[in-house]
Amino acid sequence: MEKITVKKMEVDRMENKIRLAGILKESLVNGPGMRRVFFSQGCSHDCIGCFNPDTHDFNGGFLWDRDELIKEVLDNPLLKGVTFSGGDPFEQPEAFGYMAENLKKHGVNIWSYTGYTFEYLVENMHKKPYWEIMLNSIDVLVDGKFQEELKEDNLKYRGSSNQRIIDVRKSLANKTVITVSY
Ligand code: SF4
Repeated sequence: MEKITVKKMEVDRMENKIRLAGILKESLVNGPGMRRVFFSQGCSHDCIGCFNPDTHDFNGGFLWDRDELIKEVLDNPLLKGVTFSGGDPFEQPEAFGYMAENLKKHGVNIWSYTGYTFEYLVENMHKKPYWEIMLNSIDVLVDGKFQEELKEDNLKYRGSSNQRIIDVRKSLANKTVITVSY
């Protein structure tokens, strides 16, 4: 099964595709302002109470052309940014790294969700170059697994209170986690 997944991801890369569960063209609830939301297909975190189990299968979803998605964002002056959601975008890092790097070249504000902690990503980014590319392009990271016992209804942009809204640029520069309050 692992071999099939790796092979499919390699084909996606060769064809400049990204595997998504879906896209929200205009959302006001996935970060500040009107945002385009890309839901990554594939997640291994297996959080109890996950709100989006259809996104777990790495062979599911649909393939989109990365450059077309980038162009559509740049062509829409109403958008204040993009949000990578999931699934887990960091489990499809080559494709999301490409998206992040090329959107950032045009000054697009980028948020991303992940089931990994910020510390884990930073500790391992030198072994996983596409994680490094993602972290060097993303503005804000909402990190950590969803923990059902820590779910609170009034949390903005987060599902459970262990998750943090992290200013990635400041955190990397200061070598410590700097969060943003909402
Ligand atoms: S990281 Fe997100 S998509 Fe993955 S299992 Fe956890 S809640 Fe579900």
